[in-house]
Amino acid sequence: MARYSHRAVEKILKVLFFVTLLDRASLALVPDQFAPEFNSLTQKSPVDYEDSKKIVFEVRGRNIHSGIKIKATKDKSDRDTECEDLKVLYNVSEIQTFEFQKAQYELTVPKNVQGNIYLCLPRKVRENTGQVPSLYNSVFYKWYHQGPGVFVDVTSNKTELDLSLQRRALDDVTTQVNPALATPKKKIHITGIRLEKAYKEPDYDANGVPEVLAYNDHTFRVFGEGFTPSMLITFTAKTGDCLLPISNVFHVDNTSFSENTFRVKINLPPLSANDETYHICAKDGNDEPGNPKVFVLQGTDYWYQVKAHDKPIPLWGSIIIILACLTFSALFSGLNLGLMSLDKTDLKILSNIGSRAEKRYAQAIQPVRNHGNYLLCSILLGNVFVNSIFTIFLDDLTSGFVAVIFSTLSIVLIGEIAPQAVCSRHGLAIGAKTIYITKFVMLLTFPIAFPVSKILDALLGEEIGSVYNRERLKELIKVTTGDNELDKDEVNIISGALELRKKTVSHVMTRIEDVFMLDYEAVLDFETVSEIMKSGFSRIPVYDGNRQNIVTMLYIKDLAFVDPDDNTPLKTLCQFYQNPCNFVFEDVTLDVIFKIFKEGNKGHMAFVHRVNNEGEGDPFYETVGLVTLEDVIEELIQAEIMDETDVFTDNRSKRKRHAERRQDFTVFAEKRGEPSKMRISPQLTLAAYQYLSTSVEPFHPNVISETILRRLLKQDIAVHIRKNKEWRTDPANVIYEPGKAVDFFVVILEGRVEVTVGKENLMFEGGPFTYFGTQALVQTVGIDAGHSPREAMFPHTQSPSVAPSTMGSLESLNIDSLLRHTFIPDYSVRATTEVLYLKIKRALYLAAKRATLMERSKKGENQTDQQFDEEVDKLLHSLDEDDVVSAGRQTPRRKSSRKSQEIKPEHLSMQTSPKTP
Ligand code: ADP
Repeated sequence: MARYSHRAVEKILKVLFFVTLLDRASLALVPDQFAPEFNSLTQKSPVDYEDSKKIVFEVRGRNIHSGIKIKATKDKSDRDTECEDLKVLYNVSEIQTFEFQKAQYELTVPKNVQGNIYLCLPRKVRENTGQVPSLYNSVFYKWYHQGPGVFVDVTSNKTELDLSLQRRALDDVTTQVNPALATPKKKIHITGIRLEKAYKEPDYDANGVPEVLAYNDHTFRVFGEGFTPSMLITFTAKTGDCLLPISNVFHVDNTSFSENTFRVKINLPPLSANDETYHICAKDGNDEPGNPKVFVLQGTDYWYQVKAHDKPIPLWGSIIIILACLTFSALFSGLNLGLMSLDKTDLKILSNIGSRAEKRYAQAIQPVRNHGNYLLCSILLGNVFVNSIFTIFLDDLTSGFVAVIFSTLSIVLIGEIAPQAVCSRHGLAIGAKTIYITKFVMLLTFPIAFPVSKILDALLGEEIGSVYNRERLKELIKVTTGDNELDKDEVNIISGALELRKKTVSHVMTRIEDVFMLDYEAVLDFETVSEIMKSGFSRIPVYDGNRQNIVTMLYIKDLAFVDPDDNTPLKTLCQFYQNPCNFVFEDVTLDVIFKIFKEGNKGHMAFVHRVNNEGEGDPFYETVGLVTLEDVIEELIQAEIMDETDVFTDNRSKRKRHAERRQDFTVFAEKRGEPSKMRISPQLTLAAYQYLSTSVEPFHPNVISETILRRLLKQDIAVHIRKNKEWRTDPANVIYEPGKAVDFFVVILEGRVEVTVGKENLMFEGGPFTYFGTQALVQTVGIDAGHSPREAMFPHTQSPSVAPSTMGSLESLNIDSLLRHTFIPDYSVRATTEVLYLKIKRALYLAAKRATLMERSKKGENQTDQQFDEEVDKLLHSLDEDDVVSAGRQTPRRKSSRKSQEIKPEHLSMQTSPKTP
């Protein structure tokens, strides 16, 4: 491959060599037929000056025109010999030229020069087109000696020549030689030129000479006389020598032509370094055969001159500069957004908690970013600077309009939009990686940017970075939810914490009317304690007189040593513990109350009061609610906190909690003001309930629901055998007699009984929670009454006959109740001490069973609780009418129905497992 390319280069070089040789040979072969020649010379006497002498001489010859360059030398040589290597040259300046055949010159030589001075003239080998010289379009000049006969004698003191005479003679000769020249014709004579239209706004030098851009068209107006439409214009850089024109030949613009003025469009190459200006040359373009016309220099004054210069920077240089400007423009506007949008706070945050790269970037940027205004000024200055250069260079390359459109588009798209879009995301990294450029630009723009930034600092104040107040911080977190990593709860907690200071206790308190409180005068009996338990609160305010007057607090733990049976007055307990109360005003903010609660000096509950100055009389404090730590924390975390005892989910809306209900012991409490019936303490009732439901099969929850059992126990079924003197013989003390049919079941609650079984009168003693007569309850048709005293002897074991008798159908129950079966015990039960026992009649029991059935079937139907309640009530009380309990106390119907209404419907549906409280 390399060998082939070598050969190709070799061939090309050979070809070029031969072409050059041929070119040279052809030059030698073609003499310049338009070259000037001097044939004879006449001279005036030398005129002496201080250190030089000047000799005016006149030459005759051919092709003599204005502007011929003459070399004057002391070397004597034959005509047409080359005088290339002339050593000493003397200055010859043109005085006048007479129509190609005659001219006058002035030779200046140093004073000491003596002898003859010979002349050499240039001969052009090829027509010069004015183009930039190239290998195949070169201009070659050679100087040729005019022979030993053409000389100026600088020493001789020759006779004065009558030049004017000679001129006349010359004119005569010309007329004879060339009749065409004899025709009286005005000579072309340009008096001045004016630049009319320039490619770019031209400059003018100090002398008013226009300076135009090379290689571009410019229109000149030419003034003068003797103009012809075929006139040709060219320019030369050599004073007085149109033989060496540098520019192209330009034709007259015929549309604007007149004899004295025309316009011409010229396109000049730039002046070379040695040349100062162009001079205008003109000739008539109609060459006559044998008498070709040559360009004549029209003058050397400033109004004949024009200068052309090239662009200071070449095209590729301009393109590089344009691209560089665009790049920097993009960088600056990117940095402007990237660096300026990161404020000091962001950078601090990033340098502290960013990723490793972010830390590095932030630390690199920070020192620069700390001088915010200086950085801003530098970047903007740099940006505007490169944008301006960009536009100017673009304008140089293209026309103004294109430059405007193109620069606008490219600055907007490449210099602004793209970098800003990128830097808005990656500003940190880009800013850090280009930090040295930024610093350099800051250094460059220091003289302007720094003072301006100082002024800005003074006017606007020191930049401190973004500072978030509570509202903004909250909003910042809220609006960035989804984009940040926080989950909803965290966002809520943050917002809640930020809002603490805004909200007051009145926002979150439990209103006083909703507060569960106790009267100072209250007694801590079973009912009160179970109310307290039911409320679920661990701190109970205690009021004295009216609910506004809160005097102390009762903590649930204070009840630890209190026995409800003791009926301790609350007052006593309060006086003992003397729990302090914490009062705050309703406009206290949550952060303050939170702080108070944290200190915990007065517990985690505070009463909210306000000054009431409405109405007549002195203003007074009015307690409007209570607030606890939980309320504040709920506000803080923006969610409801449920603790194990809470009844309501929200203390203000009073929404009930859906959790499983705890046991409600208040149902066992006696209602105050209830008419007297056999009173059993609530604890005992509760114990009986637990015992029956768990240990006695006929009362198992499967057979009789807990609700119904509870209600059953509230019936008038307690019997009290009081101690009397004849308790051994008193028939009232006998509960069961052998052989005497009974229809009730008995469970002893207090006291002792004596059980006598069989013919042998075997005796046993029974105490509390011994039961008898389950067969009276469960005996069904066809099954003989159980005669076995087994259950009396083993009260805690299940009777096998009882086991299958779980729930029957409602019909079978009805039939069962119709058949008044009785149970004939074969043992006797008699009280030996004071005895308290429950006596449940078969009818009552069956009613309870029926009620349970109904309750269960009710679940399938759409019967309301109220309806059901009434049904049950009816059922349970229907028996009271026909079966009078031996104790002889019958609950008034009206009363009991009222009572049953007090039992809330939900109690019926409770399915808690029986446990001893
Ligand atoms: P507790 O520990 O007794 O459950 P918390 O301090 O957890 O009480 O408060 C739970 C909610 O109950 C709060 O909204 C509070 O205002 C309210 N609260 C506390 N005590 C009482 C009360 N005695 N009466 C009414 N509401 C109360």
